[in-house]
Amino acid sequence: MIPVSEPLLTGAEAKYVADCVQTGWVSSEGKYLAAFEQAWAKYCGAEHGIAVSNGTTALQIAVAALNLEPGSEIILPSFTIISCSLAIIEAGCIPVLVDVDPETWALDLDQVEAKITSRTRAIMPVHMFGHPVDMPRLMKIARKHNLSVIEDAAEAHGAEVDGRKVGGIGDLSTFSFYANKIITTGEGGMVLTSDDELAKRLRSLRNLCFKPERRFFHTELGHNYRLTNLQAAIGLAQLERIEDHVAKKRWMAATYAERLADLKQLRLPIELPGYKNVYWMYCLILSDDVPFDAVEFARRLAQAGVQTRPLFLGMHEQPVFHERGLHLNERYPVTERLARRGLYLPSGLTLTIDQIDAVSKAVHTVLS
Ligand SMILES: *Cc1c(COP(=O)(O)O)cnc(C)c1O
Repeated sequence: MIPVSEPLLTGAEAKYVADCVQTGWVSSEGKYLAAFEQAWAKYCGAEHGIAVSNGTTALQIAVAALNLEPGSEIILPSFTIISCSLAIIEAGCIPVLVDVDPETWALDLDQVEAKITSRTRAIMPVHMFGHPVDMPRLMKIARKHNLSVIEDAAEAHGAEVDGRKVGGIGDLSTFSFYANKIITTGEGGMVLTSDDELAKRLRSLRNLCFKPERRFFHTELGHNYRLTNLQAAIGLAQLERIEDHVAKKRWMAATYAERLADLKQLRLPIELPGYKNVYWMYCLILSDDVPFDAVEFARRLAQAGVQTRPLFLGMHEQPVFHERGLHLNERYPVTERLARRGLYLPSGLTLTIDQIDAVSKAVHTVLS
């Protein structure tokens, strides 16, 4: 079976981790942590990096750091992972959904302004599967309505809009370094910001809101979302090779695109002019004339030795939100199509040309 994703690890990670172990710096203090935070912030073009335990906790403290009054609305795409909605709800805010663009699968900016009300306080764009949202246009909309912007860049390490890296454009941005992301720390995440006050609040929220001047005295409830020096050591080694990782993803996408170009029954990932897509995972969307759905497509590919994964089910189709009276009777046709007609192919950083050929051949066989 050709796996959907495997991380690419080399001797460099082991060397840095061994250094942590040998020197005893295994908790959330140590030189790799600060080095990783600074290097990642710099890479993305932000001032401050606040490393946390995963991409979900990064979103949680990013929303919490905005200190919004309960009932504030935050706009996000309907097609995303639950972490986004979770962070909004946990902060006492209300998630307001917008459908995604049928070509890039990222937040449809034509539909955002219609959802802005007097209670809207922030927008959370998600750079889906590595294709950036049109951030210059989104920032204009946000500034016009005085809204904060939290970029979820978990899937888009190194992606660019107009030559600028994602994660360095919004007021805040969040990353995941889970094992299937473009660089990994095993489990891990980070929040970036160029705002000194937000950075201070984020550091406090990550670490139980201890007061720097009086340690066990609290005026706010925080969390323990700390990343360890061991994980940061892996992250730093990974970051030193990020350009190779991004190049590998782009090579994978170009190779699949060439092999699958003749299949008119498929919609393939694209890269709009002015953008750099990092193709986190290579997705296929079945056109309507294919007489089966993505579940059946995945079953047939598995029989041919190809592992796949379904795409996200829309936030408006989640029973857990319906129970809370959220998103009842809402419809987002693009999101619903992606969930039913889409899947992603093996896209890991260890993928070989022979594996891409075998996967492409299996796709042809299943669709012929
Ligand atoms: C992976 C991912 C997350 C969550 O990251 P974890 O580290 O798994 O918590 C958040 N948002 C998006 C878009 C993701 O792909």
